[in-house]
Amino acid sequence: MARLAKFSKALRVEPGSNVKLAKLDPRDAHGWEREDAEERYEELLLKLYDLQYKLHAEHRQALLVVLQAMDAGGKDGTIRKVTGGLNPQGTRVESFKVPTEEELDHDFLWRIHRKTPGKGEISIFNRSQYGDVLVVRVHNLVPESVWKKRYGQINAFEKILCENHTRIAKFYLHISKEEQKERLQERLDDPNKHWKASEADFRERQYWDDYQDAYEAVLEKCSTDWAPWFVIPADRKWFRNLAVASILVETLEDMDIQMPDAQFDLSKVVID
Ligand code: AMP
Ligand code: MG
Repeated sequence: MARLAKFSKALRVEPGSNVKLAKLDPRDAHGWEREDAEERYEELLLKLYDLQYKLHAEHRQALLVVLQAMDAGGKDGTIRKVTGGLNPQGTRVESFKVPTEEELDHDFLWRIHRKTPGKGEISIFNRSQYGDVLVVRVHNLVPESVWKKRYGQINAFEKILCENHTRIAKFYLHISKEEQKERLQERLDDPNKHWKASEADFRERQYWDDYQDAYEAVLEKCSTDWAPWFVIPADRKWFRNLAVASILVETLEDMDIQMPDAQFDLSKVVID
């Protein structure tokens, strides 16, 4: 099998397409072997750092990265392994938890909009606006008539960002139910991981099928030309890291970032 090179095309959800997560293999490595994947990933990280430097220097565009996954799906690991080495000046990680009382007094996008990246910045969303059509839908935290409208509202919101200098790339880290079981078990077995175990993770596992349905609805309704979703096979962390790093590099390369000119005529400067 030929090794996949252009991840952004192959793993992207075509707008309006029907997504059946059960048919997508979370272990699919698209022809890659671990050793080559790790080597390529290291090269991609260097490219990513270089592109971020340019984005920061250019100060004209921004990148918003959305990460969503089932519990133990690898959001934290992806942030550490793919974006962890980016220059902290110009990179932000924003985590969206259970909304506060103040947040609930506003529309669901209020807390999101204020965390979007400014020019020259990359923001990584650890959970996002999509919580309001995932956990909220699965547990009926608001009536269906309310959450149903949110897909369109999210698409419109993301279009506003896109038309205002912000590129968006959204990742669903796709793990299997068996892999989740192993990772949750590790949280019980490894004292270094005890802090990560939350009661919610174990409780939410019972709703696995409902969450998969809710994710399918998100992928079908909210993968748009201006804010695509990518489904990343994520049972193998080395493939997940390669795929996310590659799509980020492809996305930034497509943004046609230009280094700004010097602010004055440098050739006239003599340093004595
Ligand atoms: P974690 O990311 O593991 O620290 O957990 C954050 C928790 O916040 C998860 O249990 C999410 O389901 C929950 N959460 C995130 N967004 C929302 C939301 N909009 N409404 C309710 N709960 C949410
Ligand atoms: Mg968690």
